[in-house]
Amino acid sequence: MSNDERDRFGQKLQDVEAARENEWARKRDQELLEKMRAQKSAEATCPECEQKLVPDSEHGTGGLVCPKRHGAWFTWDKIVKMLDRLAHPESK
Ligand SMILES: [Zn+2]
Repeated sequence: MSNDERDRFGQKLQDVEAARENEWARKRDQELLEKMRAQKSAEATCPECEQKLVPDSEHGTGGLVCPKRHGAWFTWDKIVKMLDRLAHPESK
């Protein structure tokens, strides 16, 4: 093997190593994302009946509601908007 060939071989090894690291990082990110998603959906359950909350398609509030209507979950932004609309019904 000439020096040139050896260098190219070394470069190739580095490329393979870098690709492997990227793959590892991508896989780890994917796993973290899935974990977060699983946690999020695991949290979104009704405290009363522990059923999974479903999107409120009835009123278009953008919130999540218990299928048995024990309660609902809204982001803070949505609550502020709703309160604002209640406080100023004429401006809508
Ligand atoms: Zn419930």
